[in-house]
Parts: sequence; C-alpha cells; structure tokens
Amino acid sequence: MSHYRSAGQAMQERFGTKVYKLSLDGGMTCPNRDGTLSSRGCIFCSDCGSGDFAAPHCDDLTQQLQDAKARVQRKVKDGKYIAYFQSYTNTYAPRSHLERLFREAMKPEEIVALSIATRPDCLPEDVMALLAELNRIKPVWVELGLQTIHPQTAHYIRRGYELPCFDDAVKRLKERGLEVIVHMILGLPGETWEEMLETARYIGRSGADGIKIQLLHVLEGTDLAQEYREGKVRELSLEEYCSLVEDCLRNLPPEMVIHRLTGDGPKRSLIAPAWSADKKRVLQTMNEAFARDNVKQGSLWKADPFADKH
Ligand code: SF4
Repeated sequence: MSHYRSAGQAMQERFGTKVYKLSLDGGMTCPNRDGTLSSRGCIFCSDCGSGDFAAPHCDDLTQQLQDAKARVQRKVKDGKYIAYFQSYTNTYAPRSHLERLFREAMKPEEIVALSIATRPDCLPEDVMALLAELNRIKPVWVELGLQTIHPQTAHYIRRGYELPCFDDAVKRLKERGLEVIVHMILGLPGETWEEMLETARYIGRSGADGIKIQLLHVLEGTDLAQEYREGKVRELSLEEYCSLVEDCLRNLPPEMVIHRLTGDGPKRSLIAPAWSADKKRVLQTMNEAFARDNVKQGSLWKADPFADKH
C-alpha cells in the first residue's frame, strides 16, 4: 500500500520511466540577499542560497548539465531528467537572460521538464509570459518557498513577503497553466503542531500541484546557527518529525504530489538536528511509522474547512 502520492510514482505515470533531478546553478542572487529587500537573507539560508546540492556555478550550462548527469549516472543507468534551478531566486534576472538559460536547459531530449525555484515576489508579468511560453514546449514547474503561513514566523525567518503575495503568485501561475510546487518547513521556532498543520492545509487548498515538506536544518554560517547556540531553537526529534509529517500527509489532498519528505541538509555544514544527516535511517523510520500508523494521504483532508458547519 502506498501511504502517499510520491513524486517518483507521479513521474513514472507521466513519463513512463524514472526521472532524476539535475540540480543547476543559474548564477542568480536573491532580493533578500543583494540588498534590495535585505542583505541578510532568510535566517536559515546558507551561502549557497538553499542550493547546496547544485552543480558548482559555471557559465556553461551545457557543461553543468553534463556534470550533473554524470553524478546521477554513477548510481543509475536509465531514465530521464528534470533540469532543476535550485540555488537562490531563479526568476530574479531580466527576461532575456532567463530565456537563454531556460531554453538551453530544456533543449536536450532527455530533459523532460524544467523546475524553477523562486520567490512569489519575483514573478513579474514578462517572466510569467516566458514561463507560459516554455511550458508549451516542455512542462515547467515553479517552486515557491512559502515555508509558513504565519506572519510572526515569516517575520522571524525574514522571508520578506506577505501571504497575499504567495496567493497571487499561485493564482497567476495556475491561470497560465504552470505547475506549482510549494515548500514548507517543519520545526520553525515558535510554531505549534497545529500551526504547522495549518500551513499544510493552506497549501493543500492553494491550488498548488505539489509540496516539498522539509525539516528545519540549522546550518553553519547562518543566523539561525547563532540563535541555536543561544538556546533559542528547539530541535525536533526524529519521532516528532515523523508524526508531524504523518499529520501533514493526512491533511493534504490525496492527489497532491509529495516531492520531498525530509529535506537535504548538507552534512558538511549541518549543526542540528544531527539525526537528519542519516537520510537512509530517516526514510526507513518514516516508512515504518507510516505502516505502523496506517497513514493515508488525504484521510483528514477537507477541501472546504467549513463544510461540516454549513
Ligand atoms: S529567498 Fe531563498 S535564496 Fe533568498 S535568502 Fe531566502 S532561502 Fe535564501
């Protein structure tokens, strides 16, 4: 029995084969780092702009694609690929620059889709039009780093935009037929269990197609690391995290694609939680918990939260 609709399953159905992500670095920055909104970035963001597994930046994108493919092919032989622009804010550049980059990335036949991580406040109309145009050639997914719906947490993590900005971006992306994947973080300081579930439910109702559920990682060199050392950040245990993920899955729509359940903290700079470094063990513990607790994505899902009260 499948406990949730995994990205692997969804890709297999859609593309008829296994699909792997090639993490790329488009050489972008972020308005939350370059001084436009702030120069400090989100509190948890590492120097790599949340792209710790992206290929090292070089201007030659074809070379980056080849290098990323070679890394994947050390483990697997067959399959197709998604060109994944992961680091920083990948729509934060003039349209002409983005167009050159994205068209080059989607050119190889074995690239079946483009995935672009960005911020909802960095989607001007000309970029939206470009994405819609590219989406007619190959599927384009836009990943939005929401993390939380709660204003006090958004302020604490220095996200730099308000919730209506996210709502508007999802609406505009969906109107243009683009697929949307939303990131949320579990374990943000000060959030209760119920508040985290509220974020999951909100994403479920937002119109997004997929979600990435991530654990808050405390990484060396971030302001969060300082807060952690001052005892201001309580880390989740592996058991707590598994239970939280279970509750999120139950509260999400059954058809929503789950692109991630843990988050990939780079081991070299991971401070906490230490248990998250052993990804194999985390996934195994999670799968055992799902089976033990008979987890079923969508079992508590309500498209209309007020339906019972009508
Ligand atoms: S929006 Fe992304 S890249 Fe920018 S500071 Fe926040 S986490 Fe880092």
